[in-house]
Amino acid sequence: MFSLLRQPALSRFISVRLKSVAASQSMAAKRDRDLCNPSSPDFLTFEDPQAFKVKSFWELIRALGVFRLCSFPTLVNNCGKLMTITRKVLGKQCFCMVVRPSVYAQFVAGETEGEIADSMQKMRSLGLHPMLAVPIEEDLGESTGERRYEDNLAAMLECVHMSHSKGWSKNPMMQLKITALVSPELCSKLTSLLKTEQYDLNELVRAMEGEEVMFPGLTESENTHLLLGLQRLNKIGEASVNKVRVLVDAEYTYMNPALSLITMAMMKKFSQQSAWIWNTHQCYLKESRNLLLDAIQMSIDQSFCLGVKLVRGAYMDKERKLAEKEGRTDPIHESWERTNDSYNGCLEIMLNLISEKPDRYMIIVATHNEESVRRAVTRMEELGLHRDGNSVCFGQLMGMCDHVSLTLAQHGFSVYKSVPYGSVDDTLPYLVRRAQENRTVLQGIRKERDLLRQELCHRLKEKITSAR
Ligand SMILES: Cc1cc2nc3c(=O)[nH]c(=O)nc-3n(C[C@H](O)[C@H](O)[C@H](O)COP(=O)(O)OP(=O)(O)OC[C@H]3O[C@@H](n4cnc5c(N)ncnc54)[C@H](O)[C@@H]3O)c2cc1C
Repeated sequence: MFSLLRQPALSRFISVRLKSVAASQSMAAKRDRDLCNPSSPDFLTFEDPQAFKVKSFWELIRALGVFRLCSFPTLVNNCGKLMTITRKVLGKQCFCMVVRPSVYAQFVAGETEGEIADSMQKMRSLGLHPMLAVPIEEDLGESTGERRYEDNLAAMLECVHMSHSKGWSKNPMMQLKITALVSPELCSKLTSLLKTEQYDLNELVRAMEGEEVMFPGLTESENTHLLLGLQRLNKIGEASVNKVRVLVDAEYTYMNPALSLITMAMMKKFSQQSAWIWNTHQCYLKESRNLLLDAIQMSIDQSFCLGVKLVRGAYMDKERKLAEKEGRTDPIHESWERTNDSYNGCLEIMLNLISEKPDRYMIIVATHNEESVRRAVTRMEELGLHRDGNSVCFGQLMGMCDHVSLTLAQHGFSVYKSVPYGSVDDTLPYLVRRAQENRTVLQGIRKERDLLRQELCHRLKEKITSAR
């Protein structure tokens, strides 16, 4: 649907941008060299174990232990099954006693308000910002009744409240999964309909506000569910506008167009003055560049501000298997290098836009990849963009790649850690999915382990010397 909206205005608009992109392409090789050049800021090597000086002795040991476990592919690939078996063998109580101080504490903020507050204060003292994420997600066949979606809404509203009322961050952010509030089946059906039907953003906005809109192609019960879902999202928007930036997650390609449409409707309503609603752009998709350009065009046509969470993407294996099964072309770039090019290209487009209109465009560079972070930092310096995070910030998952997050934070960049919270039972399925999505990152985390080890040795030496 959005490609229909890519009109000449965009070409004109983008052509201005493309001139600078083209010019910068000739500089790209030079820039690549500069990135490895000693004249690049030293901290961009991310090799200083001092980054971990803010961590306690136990936190260093815990991180080392957890990452050691994550370095075994069989453990990560089968962590869901292993957790279930261990839970059965040990019983719930013993299982929690093992998991809570280890894996759970590494990746989850806690369960009670007090525990979460402690983790957030700690994060704050490290110079990092939390981006709270309610660990609810559903896929096709996992749908639950309307009542469950209302409960999810209550959890999301609580998350909005926690994000801004506690003063944990200057510019609070949280993550939102639309499929926690609208069924994945409906999102999937809407995605199919969007191939032939046009949905007007204004109608979606009216439906969010409670008008009985009839959307083409849906049965009566589907339409009712969509209206209820849009009203739930409206409540999130109303609670968060002017307080919390809400970052909508991208999911599978069989529902993303519907998720983007709904997100755009939220942007139209809530992001007129500033980007309070953000969308996620997955650069592993072959169409990612076009989708980003469409979103930019839409933001111009509908005069809303655009917030972009730029990621490589989490669902590669399943997307590929599904495309193969259905005889479709693989939607994912054929190699990691292509995905990297796509990430760099989208990053360049956004940073250039931000350099011209920092109030209208914003980005979170959500990656654990050092090279991407280096590139973003270098371009920010070249374009004179502020480090304070109003328009450009960085994002990593809690417990992962702290050497990158802490180093950036120590040099004044704004860094958000995606923070799930909740009970062991509620967060485990979420953690299992994140571990599997990020297994390449987890298995390649050797550098962080080396740095943790160096910091640990340094502390032990200090202790021994002072004991003498
Ligand atoms: C704060 C935050 C929020 C996020 N939100 C979302 C979200 O809403 N939706 C979502 O989908 N992802 C999201 N992600 C991204 C995801 O969870 C992974 O963290 C991310 O894909 C890992 O990429 P990287 O850039 O960190 O690491 P890298 O190691 O540089 O890249 C690994 C990624 O590259 C891609 N890749 C690897 N091999 C290939 C190949 N052979 N061909 C093509 N591509 C390949 C895959 O996307 C893989 O995940 C989020 C990440 C963060 C940090």
